Amino acid sequence: MAGGENVARVRDGKNGYSRREFARELSRWGAALGMCSVMSSVLGRRAEGQVATMTTAKEVDINSPNVVPVKAKYYKTVDEKAIRCFICARNCYLPEGKTCHCYTHINRDGKLYTTAWNNPCILQPDPIEQGPLHHFYPGTRALYVATAGCMLRCLYCQNWQISQATPFDVRVLGTDLDAKKVVHLCKTAHEKYQLSEPIDTIAFSYTDPIAFYEYMTSIAKEAKKNKLKTVMVSSAYIRPSALKDILPYIDAFCFTLKGFTNEFYDKVCGATLEPVQEAMRIVVKAGKWLEIPILLVPGYNDDMELVRAMTRWIVQELGDTVPVHYARFFPKYKMRHLQQTPVKTLKMAYQIAKEEGVKYPYIANLPGCDEGNTYCHNCGATIVRRLGVKVLEINFKNGRCKKCKTKIPGILGKG
Ligand code: SF4
Ligand code: SF4
Repeated sequence: MAGGENVARVRDGKNGYSRREFARELSRWGAALGMCSVMSSVLGRRAEGQVATMTTAKEVDINSPNVVPVKAKYYKTVDEKAIRCFICARNCYLPEGKTCHCYTHINRDGKLYTTAWNNPCILQPDPIEQGPLHHFYPGTRALYVATAGCMLRCLYCQNWQISQATPFDVRVLGTDLDAKKVVHLCKTAHEKYQLSEPIDTIAFSYTDPIAFYEYMTSIAKEAKKNKLKTVMVSSAYIRPSALKDILPYIDAFCFTLKGFTNEFYDKVCGATLEPVQEAMRIVVKAGKWLEIPILLVPGYNDDMELVRAMTRWIVQELGDTVPVHYARFFPKYKMRHLQQTPVKTLKMAYQIAKEEGVKYPYIANLPGCDEGNTYCHNCGATIVRRLGVKVLEINFKNGRCKKCKTKIPGILGKG
């Protein structure tokens, strides 16, 4: 049994953490990880049981302070009052009066509005490792922000209760949480949550922030004014122009590669592959930090030749220093009938990554495995030791391996 392998290692005490600690991590991760969003105990508390119904256009009050116009550069009015939206790669055609595919945009009188403004349903501190991001200030926390809505329809979405709903369907944390308030919350979160260290990163995650692009942009700009760092965790299903506009305000990107065929993207996620690849190229070309999770879904995208092709593409097109996280799938939403990804599959993918030259491969969603640690690509020393999203030990100084002084790719901080 896959998990048993893991538990056995903990019982052996090989990694030096207690069974209780392991159990806590396991329950934390057990519910986990649809890939642009990560597991959320918050969902268990707040959203489980809430019904994700489509809000009809008539239910949205155009005068609500949470409904604001979208900049005209991201859409065009066509065919009288119909609209073509250019934020994400769907390029929706939206007749007058309709709510869009992402649940967060509406067409009123030939103008595009977002309904996700200032009303997040997630606003909470969580480890940065949860992204998953392993080369961006390891061991720190970020304030995670999300609103309801998503442009994709991933059949395994772990956060479907909020991703497949409008901001009017889910219980939000407030309807006046503008960028200034979110930034203030980030700067004071350590007091509120009694954390030992201040939080200086805001991460857009849990749902796909492209669906709340306007709100994300306003928060990211305010964060930069306040010298905070920002992270975007996303499916990368975004138009190049919208991505390029937000690039200056985001420090690190965690973009999921969900599969490697249009058939997979179409059948499992309701999207296409090429815009995702293009978005990744843009981020790397701009010199921004990128990490890539790949969720291995049994029977769908876990063929090892396919894994090799995906991995080879990453190395050849994006470089061998882009960390790749091969993540364990857990049955959820419309894929409850499948088994979780076998550990053997994850280990084989990890091995393939090594063979293909990925300097920093990882296995994700498998707490306690050695492949969740960061090893120096030069001398092999353990740079960061982890238990799931928890950092147990850091062995770098000023971004360099303590042992051989090699610069470790990423934005690691002082250590
Ligand atoms: S952001 Fe929403 S409205 Fe715009 S193209 Fe994407 S799904 Fe359609
Ligand atoms: S449906 Fe959206 S939030 Fe859910 S896994 Fe897919 S991209 Fe992420």
